[in-house]
Amino acid sequence: MINIATRINPAIAPAVSEVISQLQARHLIGNTLVPSVGGATLDVIDPATGQVIGKAPAASGDDVARAVEAASAAFPGWAATPARQRGKLIAAAASAIAERSDVIATVLALETGKAIRTECRGEVATAIDITTMYAGLASELKGETLPFDPQILTYTSREPLGVVAAILPWNVPLVLMMLKIAPALVAGNTVVVKASEEAPYATIEMARLMARLLPDGVLNVICGTGRDCGAALVEHPAVAKVTFTGSQAVGELIYQMAAKKIIPVSLELGGKSPMIVYPDADMARVVAGAIAGMRFTRQGQSCTAASRIYVHTTLIDAFVAALREAVSKLKIGDPLDEATDIGTVISPRQKAKVESYIDLGARTAGAKVDRCGELPGAAHLKDGLFLQPTIITGVPEDSPLMREEIFGPVVCVQPWDDEDDVIARANDSDFGLAATVWTNDLRSALRTVQRLDAGYVQVNQNLTIQPNLSYGGFRKSGLGKEASLEAMLEHFTKKKTVVIDMR
Ligand code: NAD
Repeated sequence: MINIATRINPAIAPAVSEVISQLQARHLIGNTLVPSVGGATLDVIDPATGQVIGKAPAASGDDVARAVEAASAAFPGWAATPARQRGKLIAAAASAIAERSDVIATVLALETGKAIRTECRGEVATAIDITTMYAGLASELKGETLPFDPQILTYTSREPLGVVAAILPWNVPLVLMMLKIAPALVAGNTVVVKASEEAPYATIEMARLMARLLPDGVLNVICGTGRDCGAALVEHPAVAKVTFTGSQAVGELIYQMAAKKIIPVSLELGGKSPMIVYPDADMARVVAGAIAGMRFTRQGQSCTAASRIYVHTTLIDAFVAALREAVSKLKIGDPLDEATDIGTVISPRQKAKVESYIDLGARTAGAKVDRCGELPGAAHLKDGLFLQPTIITGVPEDSPLMREEIFGPVVCVQPWDDEDDVIARANDSDFGLAATVWTNDLRSALRTVQRLDAGYVQVNQNLTIQPNLSYGGFRKSGLGKEASLEAMLEHFTKKKTVVIDMR
């Protein structure tokens, strides 16, 4: 076990170490921390130092079966619990998590390399916010009465689906977990979460605090590789619904596996989101919006990252200079250090992938690659997975840099001078997750918003997912919506139509 006491607030270090030591190679099944049946494990790395911080359990089909059986056994009782009572228990869970928020945020920073101040605390707070919101929506699991015939009572009711499998990536695991499990549980389903094998501890700890307040087996978390754990979970006959966030490639596989069982899936996949800047836009707001939208403080590891920025030709030089200056001021450093703005990427594989895109930019004729800011010099960070925010200009529109999701701190900035052309370029993508428009002219904004083919379109701001706003992509960015009441009703319940002859 590594010594983190010198890197974090000493007051919190013992609690963080205790959590990590309790969760060593353990799944959470039936409210108990258990090792894998076969004892297999995977290393969990601190991406800032390259050191192993512990082991994650590597589930096999036997572990998946144990977790699904626990969830199946808990389902009838949980589904029969009055909805408001379920909501009260989920609200209590949100409070229990809030009491431990700094410990969870620190564990998250340690295992993901995301900076504690700019990313991890906010992530825990958003996860709590989501949980609280859904707890309060328990009474909204309503059906409808239908005007069929005055002599025949006709209504619909919303019923839970059964065991829901929730498969998570590593980039924002706590928010993405709560967007799935809070509505699923409030709606009366039981859940098996598949944590990311690269960042399991904060996920399992948050779920453990929640599960303690719920009947055994209502919420379970297992961990392992995608093939042995994730695929086995999707294929398990008792899993009635899969909700997945991750890559497009894995999303396609899950969709195929679910099709064989004919069960519903929600897929939140990748993005390559455009940001269109009009000549009248307010430069200071646009630069701040680009930094927020590109999620530079998360090393660009965001599905909604505004990674294609189209700036009107009259502004592009000034914009690139201002963006470079602002981004260069962000401090890259130890994720656990309060002074750090930007931590690391998640894994050596991810770092190599991002660097290959930067190299492609450097090899592209006419392109300019600008790496901004300073890499950290501290000795303990010498093996850390740090990358500089990188601005690339002058690449062809059909370059992989413009078409593929890089999932790193790399933004492409392109000029435009014709509105029809820039909207066509913005829409010419496999993805359709998000888009933003920057202008003070109402007509330009509304015209462009109407024509952009993306699921989450904003004007003059670049917010992340909000708990009460329906969120989900078009085209290969996914299927279905998350967040909002709609997501709970449409994706975690089934609708029954009841017709009663009263004559
Ligand atoms: P990934 O697809 O590699 O893995 C996601 C999860 O799926 C992991 O838990 C993994 O173990 C599991 N998995 C892998 N193979 C599987 C299989 N065959 N069957 C079942 N499960 C399997 O994604 P990642 O690298 O962890 O995360 C990055 C990706 O997530 C990016 O593409 C990003 O765009 C996407 N993402 C999307 C959103 C969104 O809301 N649209 C949000 C965050 C991240």
